[in-house]
Amino acid sequence: MRRSRAEMKADLTKLADEVIDELLDWTADTPEPTLTQIEDIVLRLRQRLSERMALRVIEAQKAVRPVPGPQCPMCGKEMHYKDMKQDGVDSRVGYLPLERGYYYCETCHQGLFPLDRQLHVWDKHWSEQVARYAVWLSGLLEYEEAERVLNQIGQIPISDTSVWRRTQKWGEQFQAEETAQRAVATASPARGVPVAGEARDQPEKGVAMDGAQVHLRGEGWKELKVGCVFDIQLLPSEDPHTHEVLDLAHAVNNSYVAHLGGPETFGELVWAEARRRGWTRARDSEVLGDGAPWIWNLAHTHFFDSRQGVDWYHGTEHLAHAADLLHGEGTPAAHQWRKAQETPLFEGHADQIAARLLQATAVHPATADGLRREAGYFQNNQARMQYQELREDGFPIGSGMVESGCKQFRARFNGPGMRWSRPCLERLIPIRAAIMSRRFDQVWQAAYKSPPN
Ligand SMILES: [Zn+2]
Repeated sequence: MRRSRAEMKADLTKLADEVIDELLDWTADTPEPTLTQIEDIVLRLRQRLSERMALRVIEAQKAVRPVPGPQCPMCGKEMHYKDMKQDGVDSRVGYLPLERGYYYCETCHQGLFPLDRQLHVWDKHWSEQVARYAVWLSGLLEYEEAERVLNQIGQIPISDTSVWRRTQKWGEQFQAEETAQRAVATASPARGVPVAGEARDQPEKGVAMDGAQVHLRGEGWKELKVGCVFDIQLLPSEDPHTHEVLDLAHAVNNSYVAHLGGPETFGELVWAEARRRGWTRARDSEVLGDGAPWIWNLAHTHFFDSRQGVDWYHGTEHLAHAADLLHGEGTPAAHQWRKAQETPLFEGHADQIAARLLQATAVHPATADGLRREAGYFQNNQARMQYQELREDGFPIGSGMVESGCKQFRARFNGPGMRWSRPCLERLIPIRAAIMSRRFDQVWQAAYKSPPN
């Protein structure tokens, strides 16, 4: 069956001749073609040539029908040739009808195609790169839109259902990668214990956590916990508080993780990502969040020697709410009070604000409960509201980086009328996170290393 080099050359030359003739005939028959018409004919002819070129190369591989047969991956004995089987594979260069030998181990009752293993065809009818396109686009767009992009721009005929299936299959592998990384990170030395041979010589890093809502079929709106790990860099910018231009700390190289479920797994996931980012080598670090207690519990478990900061804007929102309770919603007095409290808040005197609010409960019995709640917020978070100090030490005080992360997850997950089955969404989350972290290709390579179970 295998062709000699001369036979291959003759075959391809013949096809190239035909293709060129067809182009010249078309030119003669098509007066004044538009560029679109020219593009269409050239792409069509090119595809025919591409398919044949790829096919001839594939046919020339020993793995089509190896003698002796391959070793059984289970028992190591030689596998026996059964028969030739044909299966089509859609690839970036077109449709490739593959004819290749099937081998079987009688002891283990296991069969395989040596050629598929060589070509890394782990997804039956799809080449690795087409599967990668489908999964990558699914992380960016709805499945039907991914289909349209692949059809129109990629000239790859794939249905939205097939795009969806690739995403389910490989999304599960993305999850497995994530789980493995999480296991490694949780088994490694605890935070704070110096890692042998590691110096704390890297720039400051930070982690920020928040939640976004996603709509699950049969469950309603559920919280997607989102974590962002970032490097800290000083850049000249306007201080939102004083409006001076100074070197302010910014989050850069943001990477994201997300989890649909409890804080425990999420915390391990964030910690695994922080470790991957070289957290243990950072000179210093910080954790940012709103006032949600689960965030600070996680900070205590995984990041106990990091600085902690309640997002500045959440802090001022609580000031605004307290001002409304004191002076009536939207009144000039409320505005004035809030403005006056911003400076003590910025300077780290949240405890004084709490005391003022508690005192005021005596003269505002109608809103006393609300005032006590706000006082509690400032009291409990006082140590995390050292804004001036954090800023002077070169740390960001706003958690915009994780809020942007939440927005990016919502942009894909919360389209009009979107309701997700939990497992489907769970497979898409690490894909989306890898894209947002600009490391999709890296995670893909790790996920696509062998046939999934
Ligand atoms: Zn065997």
